[in-house]
Amino acid sequence: LFAGPVDFVKGVVHMDGLPPADRPEVCFAGRSNVGKSSLINALTGRNSLARASNTPGRTQEINYFALGTHGYLVDLPGYGFAKAPVAVVAKWQALLKSYLAGRQTLRRAFCLIDSRHGVKDVDHEIMTLLDRSAVPFQVVMTKTDKLGPNALQPVMEQVQEALQKHPAAYPELVVTSSEKGHGIATLRAIIAGLD
Ligand code: GDP
Repeated sequence: LFAGPVDFVKGVVHMDGLPPADRPEVCFAGRSNVGKSSLINALTGRNSLARASNTPGRTQEINYFALGTHGYLVDLPGYGFAKAPVAVVAKWQALLKSYLAGRQTLRRAFCLIDSRHGVKDVDHEIMTLLDRSAVPFQVVMTKTDKLGPNALQPVMEQVQEALQKHPAAYPELVVTSSEKGHGIATLRAIIAGLD
């Protein structure tokens, strides 16, 4: 699935801008700065692919990347921006809600959690939205290279405990470091296994 070309398709700001629902897709959600672009770049083996989605103006869009004709990787806007204007937040929440509730080809959401921070209130909000939309989701721990050998376990326990509240959550966490390449093959295999 990841052997072929990966291309940026488009940034979407309205539901009617979504590409045709003609292939399976997975989406990535997380707080701003969680390491989402780095993860998508690591997954696809492209260094600059998801950079476009991080440039100002693009950050409120749902960005579509095509894995050939086999599937889409969908980069959701980063959330939890302290400085984002209320109207902007409301607009993207509405888009996100419609997307999650209405996208039939969406197979799984990956919720990225920074290994240093664990699950925050804003993460719970997204997870609750996923529960309500009946979108199965799996947590991906990011930046694990930033933690010492004994620091990861307590954070993972906090995350696992937090997931108890969310019926749509998979209990298994994917532990990654985009910097070191850890967990990337595992995540690729999970995505390749969905259809
Ligand atoms: P995004 O806002 O979620 O797209 O986050 P980015 O991918 O742009 O990453 C935010 C910051 O975290 C950047 O400075 C990255 O270099 C850094 N970062 C991302 N992933 C990792 C990682 O696995 N390890 C380390 N040490 N830093 C990372």
